[in-house]
Amino acid sequence: MALEIEQFMCRSDNFGVLARNPATGAAFLVDAPEEGPIVAAVERTGWKPSVLLITHHHPDHVEANLALKQRYGLTIIGPDYEKAKIPGIDRTVRDGEIIEVAGRKARVILTPGHTAGHVCYAFEDDKVAFTADTLFALGCGRLFEGTPADMLGSMRKLIQLDADTVIYCGHEYTQSNAKFALSVDPTNSALKERAKEIDALRAAGRATLPTTLARELATNPFLRWHDPVIRRNLGMADASDDAVFAEIRKRKDVF
Ligand code: ZN
Ligand code: FE
Repeated sequence: MALEIEQFMCRSDNFGVLARNPATGAAFLVDAPEEGPIVAAVERTGWKPSVLLITHHHPDHVEANLALKQRYGLTIIGPDYEKAKIPGIDRTVRDGEIIEVAGRKARVILTPGHTAGHVCYAFEDDKVAFTADTLFALGCGRLFEGTPADMLGSMRKLIQLDADTVIYCGHEYTQSNAKFALSVDPTNSALKERAKEIDALRAAGRATLPTTLARELATNPFLRWHDPVIRRNLGMADASDDAVFAEIRKRKDVF
């Protein structure tokens, strides 16, 4: 039986995720942005987490680590490279490792760029991936600790997942990402359609996530560095993939 997933807002625009294996009742959290909404989600669902998967060290992803550890006695798992900056970490993981979480298999994918040690967790049997601040709906994370080439390498890893993988991200940034995406890819009809859906969801106060890899491949400019129309719009028809990706990221930074 595939994972059941409860997604909810934390802080101003962070997502919290609580997931459960219905066959065993075992549950886990992905990142710990804020104690209150996470505890509320546990109480609402009755899914008591035994594991906390951390994607990267930023405070808006680890702030509630110690409080949650004390409350639930959970095991905190996070990237080896960032272990010194992850409060309460019990176990570290590296690129390519397969770990068992709540009786399901997760593959650790090292995705540097936003931070140097950022990891994503792909539950491939469940067709679910948690990409936090690496891949967003219609966007990608800011490059705080990496180069555009690092982030492009990370995107290349993520697009290897099955296209029907459901993607959960770290933030609700989709509406502003859509505006930027349209600025570099204004004639993409799938993107135009999606931007309208996003506006309607946000107007109704609803989340725009999760997404799917297939949707991102069709509409997210950070997965479309090879697209001839985007390249032409940038005046970079024959430029290298690295240069095109860097230009898209640079434009987003000042958008
Ligand atoms: Zn971050
Ligand atoms: Fe974040």
